Amino acid sequence: MAIRPLSQSSDPVLRQKAKKVRDFGPPLQGLIDDLVETMHAAPGIGLAAPQLGVALRVAVIHLPQSEEEEENEDHHRGRLIVICNPEIVKSWGEQESEEGCLSLPAYVGEVKRAARVVIKAQDRRGKRIRLRGKGLMARVLQHEIDHLNGKLFVDRVESLDKLHRIEPSGEKAEAGQEIVI
Ligand code: ZN
Repeated sequence: MAIRPLSQSSDPVLRQKAKKVRDFGPPLQGLIDDLVETMHAAPGIGLAAPQLGVALRVAVIHLPQSEEEEENEDHHRGRLIVICNPEIVKSWGEQESEEGCLSLPAYVGEVKRAARVVIKAQDRRGKRIRLRGKGLMARVLQHEIDHLNGKLFVDRVESLDKLHRIEPSGEKAEAGQEIVI
């Protein structure tokens, strides 16, 4: 496992449609391990392969445990999730809150997303899975799938007054890991 450098927003790999994962062999397993390690080191709550310069449809998600969310019975909290070839099969409702991205560390923006999604994907061994997400989990799933389609959260910010620059010290820590995907 290794921590790899993060692609930044000017990197063309972040603007291309990533390719479908077809081979679940050792190179993919190594990539997934590096995604996990890099996400944890950043720290962030999600990371997609294009953010490591690899145009493949794979992402990892790890939401921190939180008492507040436990009350809402969000069973995704604290679990490491690997999704390959994810697709949204159903989405409904709307939420708007602040979102940040490890590939755009200087900004956060208010982004509208579906409040709930159901996705189908494959796990790291290629087994077909379905995931339901609401709230933050729904947001992260949509953010990661956007990465696999060459989209960044800034594309979804409706106006410039909803995009905020983060000062290098201070506010970033305050903004918390919760929204950096
Ligand atoms: Zn991101």
